[in-house]
Amino acid sequence: MYFCKKIFDLLHQMNTTLQLRVTPDVAYVSEKLRAHVARELQVPASELHAIRTLKRSIDARQRTIFVNLTLDVWVGEDPTSLSFEHIQYQNVENRQQVVVVGAGPGGLFAALRLVELGLRPIVVERGKNVRDRKKDLALISREHLVDPESNYSFGEGGAGAYSDGKLYTRSKKRGNVDRILRVFCQHGASTDILADAHPHIGTDRLPAIIETMRNQIIKCGGEVHFQTRVDELIVDEAQNRVKGVVCKRLDTGESVCFEGPVILATGHSARDMYRYLRKAGIEIEEKGIAVGVRLEHPSMLIDQIQYHNRNGRGKYLPAAEYAMVQQVEGRGVYSFCMCPGGFVVPAASGPEQVVVNGMSPSNRAGQWSNSGMVVETRPEDIDGELHPFLWEAMGDEAFAMNHEDIDDKNNPLRMMYLQEALERATWIQGGRKQTAPAQRMADFVNNRLTIDLPKTSYAPGLIASPLHFWMPTFVKKRLQEGFKAFGKKYHGFLTDEAILIASETRTSAPVRIVRNNDTLQHVRIEGLYPCGEGAGYAGGIVSAAIDGERCAEALAAEVTK
Ligand SMILES: Cc1cc2nc3c(=O)[nH]c(=O)nc-3n(C[C@H](O)[C@H](O)[C@H](O)COP(=O)(O)OP(=O)(O)OC[C@H]3O[C@@H](n4cnc5c(N)ncnc54)[C@H](O)[C@@H]3O)c2cc1C
Repeated sequence: MYFCKKIFDLLHQMNTTLQLRVTPDVAYVSEKLRAHVARELQVPASELHAIRTLKRSIDARQRTIFVNLTLDVWVGEDPTSLSFEHIQYQNVENRQQVVVVGAGPGGLFAALRLVELGLRPIVVERGKNVRDRKKDLALISREHLVDPESNYSFGEGGAGAYSDGKLYTRSKKRGNVDRILRVFCQHGASTDILADAHPHIGTDRLPAIIETMRNQIIKCGGEVHFQTRVDELIVDEAQNRVKGVVCKRLDTGESVCFEGPVILATGHSARDMYRYLRKAGIEIEEKGIAVGVRLEHPSMLIDQIQYHNRNGRGKYLPAAEYAMVQQVEGRGVYSFCMCPGGFVVPAASGPEQVVVNGMSPSNRAGQWSNSGMVVETRPEDIDGELHPFLWEAMGDEAFAMNHEDIDDKNNPLRMMYLQEALERATWIQGGRKQTAPAQRMADFVNNRLTIDLPKTSYAPGLIASPLHFWMPTFVKKRLQEGFKAFGKKYHGFLTDEAILIASETRTSAPVRIVRNNDTLQHVRIEGLYPCGEGAGYAGGIVSAAIDGERCAEALAAEVTK
């Protein structure tokens, strides 16, 4: 009897990949999926030890919606092969020290990779730890107060911490992406992200993962300094080499220095760092950006459009997503960072600016769905084309300085001035608070005033404003044409139920901190590794993390030569 059972088990042990096309209830209810898989494989359901979704895509082209699944199934055996190999982080207490500026995904992944490679990271971060930072975010919505050192952009976890936690990237190198996802899993993320076609951690789950990463760095002998802002680099002129950083402790006002080669991962909102680099003669170059608005629809409407069903997504399907792109007069108009069932957040990093962005919790169950709707903008677009209102928005002193500067085509900060001008104009239009100026979508397209606004997810509140009047023409016109095209393609998308919320300006860095392609060091100065989104080499959590690891590897190769 015993031997019969053994032979049965052996015959039925397998790990197989299965392609299925099923209805949403089967795809999203685990017991139903289990029963379905058992029937397909003709084995008892009790023999199914694990089912893992490798790919899931929704086919909503027909009246009946189907979900295409690629599954990994284990019959009669446990999925030991699934458990990914954990990285061994070594003790680096007495090893060579490296300064990592910024604890966003670029800086954190650089620091962890340095530990892995046997170097000791000293992470210096201007903002607060990820928990304390949350209180400052609440103050922005509640009291319209933006702490210039602790906000949606600055603080532990960087702009990625209170973001959406969407982990997709356009990077073609799957190996690199998988590595980043595995590091997230090793620090507490669900292993589902290893399998999902569109992995998403959720803004509610990211902080705990970030804390675990920080503790890993400290446990191995690295250091993490919060509320410590780097104001200058220490440059050895004779050797043409960066030797460390000069910092200010923001809680005590004390000045401190840290020595070592520097990975500079300060993100795209650290404008003081760009200004310092320019002033110090450390080469940077101007670069195109994309600017526009957040567009918010009721999520029911997006579900109806995308699932072709007037009842929306029903009981089983997730909140629907979209991705849109249209060329208008030689520039791309496209949706960016779409957040189904999410909310619009006030993402300014300083006073007298209004910037919006979006995020969604892991269940994506909110009443609204939003996305950035932006227009590709190149430096030549701003030559003499800015609406006078934007210039007035800069304030007298800044106006005088920037007006002269912006005409200088050799000034690498011109696109940053455009961002600043738009953000300040938005603040003025919003009533000099974090209230954001907004307009109904169809009103904007038809150059009409909006009288009343619908409800919104944007916590600080909205104020009706003629965006079609004050936005720069090269943005406004293309957005209008883009929206008309999207409305033709997706029936019901161009509607007065949707609102435009101004302004989305922080889609990418306005500057590139130029580096050598092989060594990843700055193009003119050694010992300086410009890294991540702020340096112009990444655009999202995963790509910034990949770039952080690459910089750590290049630096390790250099110091161990
Ligand atoms: C609301 C929101 C939602 C987003 N949603 C997503 C998403 O879902 N998916 C996605 O892929 N991307 C998303 N992004 C973008 C993503 O967060 C960034 O691309 C990513 O964080 C860039 O990583 P980074 O490390 O290069 O820079 P950052 O994350 O910007 O980190 C830079 C860090 O450097 C610190 N710093 C700056 N100056 C100094 C200084 N002088 N001294 C010391 N420290 C300094 C800052 O405080 C900050 O912590 C979102 C961004 C926001 C704001």
